[in-house]
Amino acid sequence: MDQLNKKVSQKYGSVWSRDETILALYLYCQIPFAKTKQTNPSVNRLAHLIDRTPSAVARKLGNLGAFDERLAEKGISGLKHHSKQDALIWNEFSQNWEALVDESLSILSKLEEPRSRLPERDSSFDTILKPPSRTEKPTITLARVGQDFFRRTVLASHDFKCCICGLDLAELLIASHIIPWSVRTETRLDPCNGIALCTLHDKSFDRGLLSITPDYTIRIAGKVNSSRSDFVKQAIIEFEGFTIKLPSRFTPNIEFLAWHLENVFLG
Ligand SMILES: [Zn+2]
Repeated sequence: MDQLNKKVSQKYGSVWSRDETILALYLYCQIPFAKTKQTNPSVNRLAHLIDRTPSAVARKLGNLGAFDERLAEKGISGLKHHSKQDALIWNEFSQNWEALVDESLSILSKLEEPRSRLPERDSSFDTILKPPSRTEKPTITLARVGQDFFRRTVLASHDFKCCICGLDLAELLIASHIIPWSVRTETRLDPCNGIALCTLHDKSFDRGLLSITPDYTIRIAGKVNSSRSDFVKQAIIEFEGFTIKLPSRFTPNIEFLAWHLENVFLG
């Protein structure tokens, strides 16, 4: 048994600390629920950083899924073994996403990189749980990592597809804010203030050419109907009255959608 395995076995069954649970939640949000498996490189990375087994980390992510209303509705979160600490952490940070990013960064900066490094298996390996750069100003790091957190969390919960047309090229997808962050800073990182849209539908949503009602129906502004382009007809107008594809987690907040309809939609 090598040194790492010895350490892992010593920790087996021990209670998760607050810091470990925070990092688990931070990771949980940013990878699609279907990929919260022990084979996921980021799950491996967290296991390595906190000296736990990848299967223990995967189980913890599954437990966190129990708090997600959408997963519960679908009966996916069969893992009901969450601890009191899991519930406390979920309740604390699901009301304050900025604090989740801030505390996760602070914990990551204190963690020492284990001596035995894992091979880097893909490009996502280091990005989610990367310790903050020491050369960058902390405020810049927090803003940048916060934006990355929001983008990854929203796109992961939408399975990397536009919720209107289903476009699935990550390069053309935007995690759109329902209430723009310049209007309301406190919902800037709230995943329920985000929807995954392709660049065309993002821009249309941003400019009020389309909106989504609180019952998730797509509305197209009258102005768009004056277009004589067949492309506009197929790519925008024909979606009028359709329902968006709801994400597997972090359902868009209906009050935020009502705000968009009232304040941004051109009608
Ligand atoms: Zn689209």
